[in-house]
Amino acid sequence: MSDKQNQIFDEIHEECGVFGMYDLDGGEVASTIYYGLFALQHRGQESCGIAVSDTEGPKGKVAVHKDMGLCNEVFTPDTLGSLHGNIGVGHVRYSTAGSSTRENAQPLVLNYVKGTLALAHNGNLVNAPELRRELEYTGAIFQTTIDSEVIAYHIARERIKTATVQQAVANAMKKISGAYSLVIMSPRKLIGARDPFGFKPLCIGKKDNAYILASETCALDTVGATFVRDVEPGEIVSITRDGIESDRSMCLSDPKKQARCIFEYIYFARPDSVFDGVSVYHSRIYAGRCLAKDDPVEADLVVGVPESGNAAALGYAMESGIPYGTAFVKNTYVGRTFIKPKQSNRVSAVRVKLNVLREAVAGKRVIMIDDSIVRGTTSHQIVRMLRDAGAKEVHVKISAPPFLHPCYFGTDIPSEEQLIAHNRTIDQICELIGADSLSYLRMERLYEMAEGLPICTACFNGEYPIDPPKEDIRGEYTR
Ligand code: SF4
Repeated sequence: MSDKQNQIFDEIHEECGVFGMYDLDGGEVASTIYYGLFALQHRGQESCGIAVSDTEGPKGKVAVHKDMGLCNEVFTPDTLGSLHGNIGVGHVRYSTAGSSTRENAQPLVLNYVKGTLALAHNGNLVNAPELRRELEYTGAIFQTTIDSEVIAYHIARERIKTATVQQAVANAMKKISGAYSLVIMSPRKLIGARDPFGFKPLCIGKKDNAYILASETCALDTVGATFVRDVEPGEIVSITRDGIESDRSMCLSDPKKQARCIFEYIYFARPDSVFDGVSVYHSRIYAGRCLAKDDPVEADLVVGVPESGNAAALGYAMESGIPYGTAFVKNTYVGRTFIKPKQSNRVSAVRVKLNVLREAVAGKRVIMIDDSIVRGTTSHQIVRMLRDAGAKEVHVKISAPPFLHPCYFGTDIPSEEQLIAHNRTIDQICELIGADSLSYLRMERLYEMAEGLPICTACFNGEYPIDPPKEDIRGEYTR
């Protein structure tokens, strides 16, 4: 594993965010895509990119700019100003390991006999190595190590045999397996597709006479677009001059088997987003209320570990009547290029990112709400910081069940032996992190949080909606 922030801060990361736009009136789309990506920056901070084209111009002429870094590092007024076109796709990326390189930045642009495809992908395939080998044996030469290229190749190959690009996408979807939300630009169409299980979100918006596809609704709000609807799990939408067409041939016959990633609601997504009709903010408030109902504890103050712990802490306070407060000040400027302090510096990376408001916690019994404990190193330090600041007691509540299994669908939850909850009781974990008490959200509460939507809970209970890959390729080939 490389020296990534997940090791430094013991956090789980989302893999990517996607944004696509087609202005039917012919207006430029690059700057709106840029602001859309900005709103999705929390989904990936390692690289980003935008590819645009002109639907009235020559087929195959695509302008693309992508690089390592945050949106405001990669794009300047000049680079953005050079991206001319009324259709485009954009991407922000986080990678799990080894492959955090410029070549792997997206969108991927592929030239083939039918023109040019630009593709942006969020998620992770479980059968990418097999598909990659199959393509390599038939002469394909890959430029990247990302499984998004496997998807793009399959679509391009299918396109030669099919009448439309959306049919080619549908045929490719029969071969690929795993989590994917895709936005694809063909010379005259913007295509959006969501895997049949609906692991990752994707929504449709409209601004004047332009259509937008985005990972989260917060990106629609940012660019002043109105929400039209979510792309359904398994649905392929194609946006052309004639409006939106939908192909539902890849939707599961039994929608109860859909498996939205519940961790989108718990942690990844911004609280101002709404997926499949469920507000992320409300689901977090609900989780906090449940923690207060199911495992109450006497205390003077409820605090959240920013950002995703805050709404759950508010929910806990509302349910319990214990005052809600702010205990942490977060330095939001700890970005991709953060240099991990050397041990000899005696500087804690966690302290660089979070500081405790001594005045708020001194002499108090504190309930601290966080979204997860991965390896436990960060939790231990945060509990210690609260005690050093004078907290009399620290009770830790986690707004999710314990992580017991890795994720193969695009989240960097590590292997079992690295998870603190693996083979440990709650009391043992509590002792390791140095808290006075510890409780987790109960499994059944997850389904209530999602208001009955079918969800994936594999990292908590090992019930994988799709069989895990035969080879654990996480870290070798990533999106
Ligand atoms: S295993 Fe966990 S993180 Fe991965 S998709 Fe399922 S719920 Fe999300």
